[in-house]
Amino acid sequence: MKKLVIASNNPGKLLEFQTLLAPLGIEVVTQAQLGIKEAEEPHLTFIENALAKARHVSRESGLPALADDSGICVAALKGLPGVISARFSGLPSNDERNNKALLQAMQPHSDRRAHYACVLVLMRSAGDAQPLIAEGEWHGEIAREARGTGGFGYDPLFWLPDLNKMSSELSREEKDAVSHRGKAIKVLLEKLKA
Ligand code: IMP
Repeated sequence: MKKLVIASNNPGKLLEFQTLLAPLGIEVVTQAQLGIKEAEEPHLTFIENALAKARHVSRESGLPALADDSGICVAALKGLPGVISARFSGLPSNDERNNKALLQAMQPHSDRRAHYACVLVLMRSAGDAQPLIAEGEWHGEIAREARGTGGFGYDPLFWLPDLNKMSSELSREEKDAVSHRGKAIKVLLEKLKA
């Protein structure tokens, strides 16, 4: 594999993928660079959405495609925002508005447990019957107010008791070492090597 298309236009994710995939020595291009529109994400599970995104981009580009579907799952909200994390407060997606909506939804709750989930799918072609699949989780809590400027999405609200920091206060390297996406990429790289 010499070239891989990342099936995402989320700038936060693209930055993380580019760093995480650098050791592979594969040329990484984004679907936007190839003029490919985003796929629909109508499904109720991360894996179904990730499969749909990877298949769409591989079909459109004729190249191997890597898709991730990810989100934040909050225990007190029965797993929401989950697969609708990007559009929790409506469309077009807006991180600040989503964070405000999450803070509001969490107001009555003292159980602040949450985790990020990431499912990665690597399809060598649109007809790949055995795509590589890898998952990662990252556990923390929803803070009572936003803080920090790093990361993206819900990072200003994601409190890490073990590190005594918000995920928005981690450097890129620190986040990659422990995050749901970082963990999933490590599993995927192992599968690729095998
Ligand atoms: P997707 O593009 O449908 O997978 O949407 C993922 C959404 O989940 C993002 O727009 C964020 O709101 C949230 N999310 C996923 N990973 C992260 C992360 O590492 N930090 C903060 N928010 C994230």
